[in-house]
Amino acid sequence: MRTEQTTCVVVGGGPAGMMAGLLLARQGVEVVVVEKHGDFLRDFRGDTVHPSTLRVIEELGWIDEFLRLPHSRVSTITVETPAGRTDFADFSKIGGKYPYIAFMPQWDVLDFLASKGAAYPNFRLVQKAEAVELVREGGRATGVRARTPEGDLELRANLVIAADGRHSTMRASAGLRPAASKAPMDVLWFRLSRSPGEDLTFLHTGEGFVLITIDRGDYWQMAYVIPQGAYEHVRGEGVERLRADVAAVDTALGERLTREIRDWDDVKLLSVRVDRLRTWYRPGLLCIGDAAHAMSPAGGVGINLAVQDAVAAARMLGPALKAGRVPTADELRRVQRRRELPVRAVQLAQIHMLADLYPKDRGSTVERPFAARVVRRFPFLNGWTARFIGVGVRPERVG
Ligand SMILES: Cc1cc2nc3c(=O)[nH]c(=O)nc-3n(C[C@H](O)[C@H](O)[C@H](O)COP(=O)(O)OP(=O)(O)OC[C@H]3O[C@@H](n4cnc5c(N)ncnc54)[C@H](O)[C@@H]3O)c2cc1C
Repeated sequence: MRTEQTTCVVVGGGPAGMMAGLLLARQGVEVVVVEKHGDFLRDFRGDTVHPSTLRVIEELGWIDEFLRLPHSRVSTITVETPAGRTDFADFSKIGGKYPYIAFMPQWDVLDFLASKGAAYPNFRLVQKAEAVELVREGGRATGVRARTPEGDLELRANLVIAADGRHSTMRASAGLRPAASKAPMDVLWFRLSRSPGEDLTFLHTGEGFVLITIDRGDYWQMAYVIPQGAYEHVRGEGVERLRADVAAVDTALGERLTREIRDWDDVKLLSVRVDRLRTWYRPGLLCIGDAAHAMSPAGGVGINLAVQDAVAAARMLGPALKAGRVPTADELRRVQRRRELPVRAVQLAQIHMLADLYPKDRGSTVERPFAARVVRRFPFLNGWTARFIGVGVRPERVG
């Protein structure tokens, strides 16, 4: 077992971990980010970069370079139900330089952050390193043990940041368990090639499903939202039913569906999870991003909240770490206090305000969700919904 000393170990090279590591390194803190995979190439990950994240990147002075990466932009989220179309969120109304959601593959975002981190001599990303447990001394987390191809590695540090996602090993190792809310849906993801210039409405509802279509340039990324726990039932209906539901949205897709969705191997299930830790920290440990709160995919806010957590954690804990101190329980608590309100507000909206947006069973159709009805009646509210989704409550500044 090799043992190394650093100031902060970040477990997980996702949006939360990469941003936290980068921002701490920028303040002069020695950081090691450990990531269990050898690259960032994972299919069907969140790839919505919201105005709040774009503002962070602007503040860091990298926005022009970032926006040169291939991406598409969505300025309006339109909901189409049997009762008609509603422009549910209009990002052009939120003002500022980024009145849109940028759809960019998550691996490009993470590669970008990794390249920026590499510019700091005190930033180190160790890939193919799976953290297996916390190291503890005197009731405090003092580091992590990780498995690497070169053998086991013990990294000792003043702070461990657990950014290892919704199934966080570090969180479990600290004895922290999130309280889960009833998740309102499950999602089947697949991709379908896109004809040049082809346009589809962002959200359609049908009998027992909701379809979300994301323009990814030469293909559509599609989310076929089904009732929670209905996956086996949907499989039993056959892939033909899924193809028919999607083709009903636009008949031009029919032939491509037969060719490209051959069987269930072409479709990936995301079991949606919505949960939140009561306490995000233990002495020497702070959980952020999905490790502290798994979000529903509604609104595509997961990455952006993860980034916002990282920005707050780095800003609030950087000075203590820079001074070579172990952050106090009070300092860790303040990070949770700062970030808990935005997380609670979004989870509340995802679970309750949008509850009727999700199909309840395979026989019922969402006619027009309450939130869409309200926005249709008072169209000016679609600027407010865009702000809530795109910027959120209490946006963070790098400082
Ligand atoms: C299919 C799918 C679609 C989604 N769509 C969207 C979307 O459109 N928009 C959106 O905003 N959000 C979306 N999300 C959610 C979003 O991806 C997450 O909220 C976001 O990535 C959270 O970031 P994170 O850094 O906290 O965790 P993650 O992105 O989960 O990153 C955790 C990282 O830790 C690594 N890791 C895990 N365990 C260990 C370990 N023991 N040791 C070392 N490394 C470890 C993982 O490999 C991973 O790289 C989606 C999620 C899924 C699964």
